[in-house]
Amino acid sequence: MIPFKVTFLGTGAGLPTLQRGVSSLVIQINREYLMIDCGEGTQIQMQRFGIKSGQINYIFISHLHGDHFFGLPGLLFTYHLFSRQKPLHIYGPENLEASLKAVMHVDWSVLSYKIFFHTINTEIPLDLLDEKDFKVSCFPLKHRIPTFGFLVEEKEPPFFKLRKEALNVWKPDVSTIRSLRLGNDFITPNGEVIPNEVFSYPKDPIRSFAYLSDTAYLPELKSVIEGVTVLCHEATYLKGEEENALSKGHSTALQAAELAKASNVKKLLLGHVSPKILDPQTLIENAISTFENTTVVFDGFSLEI
Ligand SMILES: [Zn+2]
Repeated sequence: MIPFKVTFLGTGAGLPTLQRGVSSLVIQINREYLMIDCGEGTQIQMQRFGIKSGQINYIFISHLHGDHFFGLPGLLFTYHLFSRQKPLHIYGPENLEASLKAVMHVDWSVLSYKIFFHTINTEIPLDLLDEKDFKVSCFPLKHRIPTFGFLVEEKEPPFFKLRKEALNVWKPDVSTIRSLRLGNDFITPNGEVIPNEVFSYPKDPIRSFAYLSDTAYLPELKSVIEGVTVLCHEATYLKGEEENALSKGHSTALQAAELAKASNVKKLLLGHVSPKILDPQTLIENAISTFENTTVVFDGFSLEI
C-alpha cells in the first residue's frame, strides 16, 4: 500500500484560539502532499507538526471565509522568500486569486515560482486532479457563500503482488511473470490453466478521504461520498441546535453522524469545532449512538487512511 495519511493542522471554527488553530489539513498520498484550506497561522502549525511546506504542490481552498484561507498570502510569500522553484497549483472558488492579489500587492510574475490558479465554479461534482496514484474531485456544499467539499481517492494499483511460493513451484519466465502481475492466468506447457489467484495476493481495498469544510446538513451528498474510508464532516453545533446551524450554513454533530451512517463510510472525523464547545467529548456523545466509529479531531491529529 502506498502512504495515505491525513494530518490536521487547524481544527477550530471562526478564529484561532490557544486550544485550536483554524481550518487546514495536509494529505500525504504516496510522494505528493496536498493541502486543504489554509487558515490564519497555518505556517506555524506546519512547523509545530513537522510538515515541510516545500513538499506541497497542490492547495485546495473550500471557500472564502477568512478562517479557511487567511493563511495563504503568508505561505505564498514564504515560498518566495525561500526561492521556491517548483510550480504551485491552487484550486479555489472564484475571486480567490483577486483576493490574494489585493492583499499581497504583487504581480505573480515577480515571485520566484509560478502559480497556476484553477477556479472552481460548479453545481455538480467535478474532477480536479488526475495523478498516477490518486485523483481529487470537488462537489458543492450548502453554506452562506459558494463552498466546495473535496474527495481524494486512491487509484487501483495496476499490478498484482505475486506470491514467491507459487513462483518457486511453477517457475514462470519473465514475460509470464509480467502477464501474471497484470492479473492473467498461468497456462502450463501441457495446457492446464492455473488461476491467477494462485500466484497473486488480492489487491488492497481502494482508500478515500472526503472533507466537508463548512456546510448545512446535506443528505443528498450520500451519492458522492458513499463508502468512503474516512469522512471529515464539520460539526460546528450540538444536537438540538439544528435551526441555528441551518441559518448559519453549518451542521450539528448528530447530522454529521446521520450522513456518515447513510453513506456507509468507515470512519467519521468531526471537525470545525466551535470555541464555544469546551469539551469535545460532547460532540462524540451526540454522534456515537448514530455512528459508532467517530472521533473529534484536534490540531496535530494524524491518521493513516
Ligand atoms: Zn465558512
